[in-house]
Amino acid sequence: MRFETLAVHAGHRIDPSTGAVAPPIHLSTTFARDEESVPLSGHTYIRESNPNQEQLEEALFPLEGGAAALVFASGMAAGIALLQSLPPGSHVLLPHDVYYGFREAAEQFLPNWGIRSDLVDMADLAALAAAIRPETRLLWLETPSNPLLGVVDLAGAVALARAAGALTMVDNTFATPVLQRPIALGADIVLHSTTKYFGGHSDVQGGALIFARADELWERIAHQRHLLGAVASPFNDWLVLRGLRTLACRMAVQTASALAVAQALEKLPTVSAVHYPGLPSHPGHEVARRQMSGFGAMLSFRAAAGREAALRAVGRARLFTRATSLGGVESLIEHRASSEGPGSRTPQELIRLSIGLEHPDDLIADLEQALR
Ligand SMILES: *Cc1c(COP(=O)(O)O)cnc(C)c1O
Repeated sequence: MRFETLAVHAGHRIDPSTGAVAPPIHLSTTFARDEESVPLSGHTYIRESNPNQEQLEEALFPLEGGAAALVFASGMAAGIALLQSLPPGSHVLLPHDVYYGFREAAEQFLPNWGIRSDLVDMADLAALAAAIRPETRLLWLETPSNPLLGVVDLAGAVALARAAGALTMVDNTFATPVLQRPIALGADIVLHSTTKYFGGHSDVQGGALIFARADELWERIAHQRHLLGAVASPFNDWLVLRGLRTLACRMAVQTASALAVAQALEKLPTVSAVHYPGLPSHPGHEVARRQMSGFGAMLSFRAAAGREAALRAVGRARLFTRATSLGGVESLIEHRASSEGPGSRTPQELIRLSIGLEHPDDLIADLEQALR
């Protein structure tokens, strides 16, 4: 089955008790047992498993070509669950431009858990190879990266990890499985902040891990979620499931608009650089063409006149909403360093865009007036 069809049908079933076509939301925290005290449905208590969580997981793993999925209360909770599953003494490699929440969590929490981590520029496979140590257990990949849209050669990184006996996890939040399938390229685990494109409407938080194999690691992290409690509410699982039904068509339109916006920005004299893997000027363009079927709906660019000019342009935007996050139907603009706060390593003149479902000509006109 092709992706568009799977997105509509994966995990779908007609509710046997009512015939409802849209899935019901089960808010019950506890589930009944029969006369022999056997659970009637397989579920016993909401934190261990529940129908909306199960249905979302059944829909998610086929979309990434995996064998199993676990959903969480947020993208951060999903990533931290994987890190917490590593034994003390492990070493983890993260990209130098990893999503800032994970960089800060790695700095502030991993040492307490006996885990060491290093940041490395993974666009440079030789640098990545040199950073791997005997105790490296996990290569954490993110491509395209946030907010500089750096591209990492996934097959190349997977080969290095395998040779070293380390797992690879790919944060696929920006690309989504519509455009990039890391498991088909050999990755062991895929991470999503489903808050972004899966939800798609800026109204739900969630996270997911999708596993290439329904193995011991998957079971261990499911057990950990049950006991440590990073569980999403059934309503949030229901909203993410609703969002993923339209993921393929939203990504197609948003990606086409993002390319048009990137091309228009490249022509403006007030813009010194545009970071979008779909542009031939992007250093990762060839690798992105090999491993992605489209280049996504996120881009960033630099104001030629520096920080103040970037802040002024963001302030002048009328159609773009000034807000952080991404993946919704409405286009967003942000001065990224301000959003990340004092620990940010993002260039001060950088503006990040999330392209939504508006007409690209309207978006381009807004940026042209903001950057005049
Ligand atoms: C937003 C985001 C996260 C974190 O997800 P939350 O749902 O906000 O916890 C992780 N990775 C990337 C690439 C993101 O954009």
